[in-house]
Amino acid sequence: MGLKLACRDMGLDCSYVSRGETMEELMADAGPHGKKIHGYTDEQLNSPEMMEKVKAAVKQE
Ligand SMILES: [Zn+2]
Repeated sequence: MGLKLACRDMGLDCSYVSRGETMEELMADAGPHGKKIHGYTDEQLNSPEMMEKVKAAVKQE
């Protein structure tokens, strides 16, 4: 049982899916991808708005 976060579920036109066993692991995967591919800054990634969006988009698998 793990967690996954699809860029598509974040409203992004990207087929990448981040995975992790915990929220920390998931963000360790999604964070660098978001920065490298989508140009997010650390500030944007750590903002409460982003966290809300991420929580809403994360799915158990
Ligand atoms: Zn992406």
